[in-house]
Amino acid sequence: MTSAPTAPTVLPDQKKIGMVSLGCPKALVDSERILTRLRADGYAFAEDYAGADVVLVNTCGFLDSAKEESLAAIGEAIAENGRVIVTGCMGEEADAIRAVHPQVLAVTGAHQYEQVVEAVHTHAPPSQGPFVDLIPQPDIKLTPRHYSYLKISEGCNHSCAFCIIPALRGKLASRRIDAVLREAEKLVAAGTKELLVISQDTSAYGVDIRHDSRQWKGREVRAHMTDMARELGQLRTPEGHAPWVRLHYVYPYPHVDQVIPLMAEGLLTPYLDIPFQHASPKVLKLMRRPANEAKVLERLKSWRAICPDIAIRSSFVVGFPGETEEDFRYLLDWLEEAQLDRVGAFRFEPVEGAAANALPDQVPEAVKEERYARIMEVTERISAAKLAAKVGRTLPVIIDEVGEPDEDGDIGATGRSQADAPEIDGAVYLRNVPASLAPGDIVNVTIEDADAHDLFGALA
Ligand code: SF4
Repeated sequence: MTSAPTAPTVLPDQKKIGMVSLGCPKALVDSERILTRLRADGYAFAEDYAGADVVLVNTCGFLDSAKEESLAAIGEAIAENGRVIVTGCMGEEADAIRAVHPQVLAVTGAHQYEQVVEAVHTHAPPSQGPFVDLIPQPDIKLTPRHYSYLKISEGCNHSCAFCIIPALRGKLASRRIDAVLREAEKLVAAGTKELLVISQDTSAYGVDIRHDSRQWKGREVRAHMTDMARELGQLRTPEGHAPWVRLHYVYPYPHVDQVIPLMAEGLLTPYLDIPFQHASPKVLKLMRRPANEAKVLERLKSWRAICPDIAIRSSFVVGFPGETEEDFRYLLDWLEEAQLDRVGAFRFEPVEGAAANALPDQVPEAVKEERYARIMEVTERISAAKLAAKVGRTLPVIIDEVGEPDEDGDIGATGRSQADAPEIDGAVYLRNVPASLAPGDIVNVTIEDADAHDLFGALA
């Protein structure tokens, strides 16, 4: 069970909510919003199933395997507590959930905050404590205090053949730029040292609202990725430092070129998460991917010329219907050339309702496995060489965790360089750190060793 945020004081009769949050960072942000809203309504949070008056399960319904995981989590919550409300992406398939778990109290879909809160009010009416409404409480965060996800839009205007997100979450709906910046400012003031900008398509931010501009600190700022990035880079922590700002889910539209100089200037973390998914023009066309016409290899070169330290992360699907051995080799050659820093690979898996399921020339499972093994071999070799080249350098590292002293009194710590986003990339393991080091500290580390995924070093 996701540990619920600690409730400072539980008033007598205050109803308690349990929360199980599955899925991607976007779903985590939804969970935070629901919990923030429920706390404002006077609810407390349970640390375990037994202490909860009702359990919320925020589901993921993207892949069939995620649906199975969601159904299993709902089953566990029913077995442990019995009073369960389901929300999130899989909530769009209420019938499928009720067919397996008829006991669920209510099912609501992704982003239906009002409906989730209403369902909680119906099945666990809030206590009418006289003071509850008067206690100002900060927003709830499920991520550690030193990094925060900043969601800038919902939905997506594309129709990639393997994806059902637009059907689940609707068309692109961007938040106002001043609302995004205000939230970021609040997070940084409250201790966030690293902002992770997320959406389904970050480079499309503001397209739906015609890049509507708003006043922000005496300036006109557009709802546009470049303006947003520049403003985020000017925020300051209470200690006067610039937070790290990472852009996720960026498609290589031409205007992405404009954010690279901001990285070179130090306003943005030199990191781009671009889900290329494939390199073969034929497969990209079959996938109906946005912005695939761009001459990506040339642009990667020019980005590296402007900002040599830029780290590029991407993900790729192997075994997409119609992918031939020739297409796959094209992808491997492209990867050798592109020299990406971080790569995630996935075997194509049909998702119920996705257009790709009807495509001819489905790739046999054994071939997918074989291609997956080959792409992993290539990307691990590239990653190992890129990390080995960092040995001897001194890099800024953000600390995520500080360990306990071992038998010799040495304390280890785990952190990340600017090339590593939390939860998806590698780590930097530090030896022999002072006990005063704390999560969220940004320190200079001399890199002493590397393997295929992680770095090892000591404070400089
Ligand atoms: S860009 Fe494609 S993969 Fe990404 S959310 Fe939109 S439709 Fe899905």
